[in-house]
Amino acid sequence: MSSDFASKFACKVFDDAVMRERLPKNTYKSLKHSIDENVHLEPDVADVVASVMKDWAVEQGATHFTHWFQPMTNITAGKHDSFISPQKDGQVILEFSGKELIQGEPDASSFPNGGLRNTFEARGYTAWDCTSPAFIKGGTLYIPTAFCSYTGEALDTKTPLLRSMQVISDQAMRILRLFGNRTSKRVLATVGAEQEYFLVDREKYENRLDLKICGRTLFGAMPPKGQEMDDHYCGRIRLRVAEYMRQLDNALWELGVTSKTKHNEVAPAQHELAPVFCSANIACDHNQLTMEVMRIVAKQNGLACLLHEKPFDGVNGSGKHNNWSLSTDDGLNLLDPGKTPYENVQFLIFLCAVLTAVDNYADLLRLTAAVAGNDHRLGANEAPPAIISVFLGDELTGILENIAKGNTNHQSSSGILETGVETLPDLPKDDSDRNRTSPFAFTGNKFEFRMVGSSQSIAQSNYVLNTIVSDSLSTFADRLESAPNFDDEIKHIITETMEQHGRIIFNGNNYTDEWVKEAEKRGLPNLPTTVDAAQMLIQPKNIAVFERFHVLSPVECRSRYEIMLENYAKTINIEANTMLEMANKQILPALIGFAGDTAAAYNELMCAGVSNATSLRLAQALSDAVDEIYAEAQELQAVLDQIHKSCIGDALCEAKGYRDQILPQMEKLRQAVDKAEGICSSEAWPMPSYTDLLHRV
Ligand code: ADP
Ligand code: MG
Repeated sequence: MSSDFASKFACKVFDDAVMRERLPKNTYKSLKHSIDENVHLEPDVADVVASVMKDWAVEQGATHFTHWFQPMTNITAGKHDSFISPQKDGQVILEFSGKELIQGEPDASSFPNGGLRNTFEARGYTAWDCTSPAFIKGGTLYIPTAFCSYTGEALDTKTPLLRSMQVISDQAMRILRLFGNRTSKRVLATVGAEQEYFLVDREKYENRLDLKICGRTLFGAMPPKGQEMDDHYCGRIRLRVAEYMRQLDNALWELGVTSKTKHNEVAPAQHELAPVFCSANIACDHNQLTMEVMRIVAKQNGLACLLHEKPFDGVNGSGKHNNWSLSTDDGLNLLDPGKTPYENVQFLIFLCAVLTAVDNYADLLRLTAAVAGNDHRLGANEAPPAIISVFLGDELTGILENIAKGNTNHQSSSGILETGVETLPDLPKDDSDRNRTSPFAFTGNKFEFRMVGSSQSIAQSNYVLNTIVSDSLSTFADRLESAPNFDDEIKHIITETMEQHGRIIFNGNNYTDEWVKEAEKRGLPNLPTTVDAAQMLIQPKNIAVFERFHVLSPVECRSRYEIMLENYAKTINIEANTMLEMANKQILPALIGFAGDTAAAYNELMCAGVSNATSLRLAQALSDAVDEIYAEAQELQAVLDQIHKSCIGDALCEAKGYRDQILPQMEKLRQAVDKAEGICSSEAWPMPSYTDLLHRV
């Protein structure tokens, strides 16, 4: 590694350092003001910024710019326009105006909109998000933007996230002021998203239609060795993978992504990357970029990067751990227990706000991890179950319980115990017994939401977290602002939180059946599939909280609900069709051919005077397998046709049909095929096996 890698960090980013160096002083000040205070940029200022940005980009080799946005597809989009502007003399000059920087008008009709607009109003708008820096990738200047419909409804994941960033800042500041903080100006939601992924050999990937089209294997007999030896997690990184990780880090660093940690994950061929945390909005953009760059660098290295939640049956799938906290602009982490009792109390209030929020809106939080791919993972014994609970650790839980019980004996050294709150001991920074099975764990100075799927945008999880925590913070602030006795009110809030929401705390093993039963007793929602979870988006209490804080309007909630169901049905429809294509065009012909070869071999043996019962039995078994696969494939086609006919225009009916009828039939077809794979020769089998994919990287 060259020693200048540090100096190359963010060399492709139009970041604060570049702006300060290149923009006229006044322009820089105005822009900084817009970024920090969330106010509009004046058109003349935008013109100057655009022109400087263009010059910088061209120096870096860029010829185009794009308004980069995040429609509800979990991936990003943007069309690329060149800077050239033809002149009368036949020459071109390079131009980029403030207007082009601030606003774009892509056609919105080809992105998921959940029935928000008719196609005749198909125009959409992209609006520059100056809080996330522009960057250069592949000769194009990328300008992060929000994407809205002609009528102003959000069509993306960034718009509600930006709205929620403002809301959480406002509500958290109210609490901070009550605790006497006069120095902080804003509160930022901070996020670090750990990303899991698989790497497989490109050639083998290209020979698997299911991986190529669906991102996961739809067939595949179990390999002789899976993850049972526990020998992959944080084990030695193979040379080929190490080289991939090196190139990936370098590419990400140039883009300003603070890639920090890399290691092997539990399953063979599975790995993880974790960045250093930053503001939720930038973290979200960076996670999208990370996924894109992961795929590109893989391709350049003869590898394929799989970001699907469950690429392989029988070994762990991939998720994202969304580490979330709140931080003031002057660097105070509000979920850090702190060193003094005064900070402790403030911390406890923020902690209670999170507990209250997660209990009140567990269904909403669950929903943010709902996508067809993640249904294979949540609830299997590798990922948290689909039930939301919070891990606090015994020590923190004990402190909250003591306060709730009016037990003021945590510490007696300082004498006066007015409320039992001010004299709390220093809180533990970390609970040594870190629970890896909890979907929402307090890990020392942040919460780690572990349900998110590896292919998903983290925006939704974070705008939901910001919104629901704002909801409890605002209730607490209302109470504290009008309380006759501040200390008493604090105590009431903590007591009530434990009484009313203590059920959300669970420090045990979330993977057990006992927990599922216990959670049911506690009345915690269990939403096993995307179809169950999606419906939570149109529950009145959930629509109300989004509306109250202007994060999503009722119309936007409804459209997102439709999109979730549509995406779910479409994903499974594509998978079912891919299965049929593979079964009919690859697997059946291969098996018939091999059955024929086996029968011919039997005949040859007979002619030579050797009677071999095994070859005869094998030919028969192969022939039976052919019949079985054919029958299951026919049945799958029949169920597909039936759902297409009976659910026209009804997204919920379709989604339920795919979940309850198609998925089980796909499983039957898979079992028939996997059984056949076990008796077919490797040469005759028409695609790479699990062993090839998982162990021959
Ligand atoms: P683990 O694997 O134990 O969960 P890692 O170190 O791999 O731990 O990941 C922790 C993640 O949490 C990193 O991305 C880190 O930047 C992030 N993180 C740490 N502090 C905060 C914080 N205050 N807010 C948000 N994310 C944080
Ligand atoms: Mg983690």
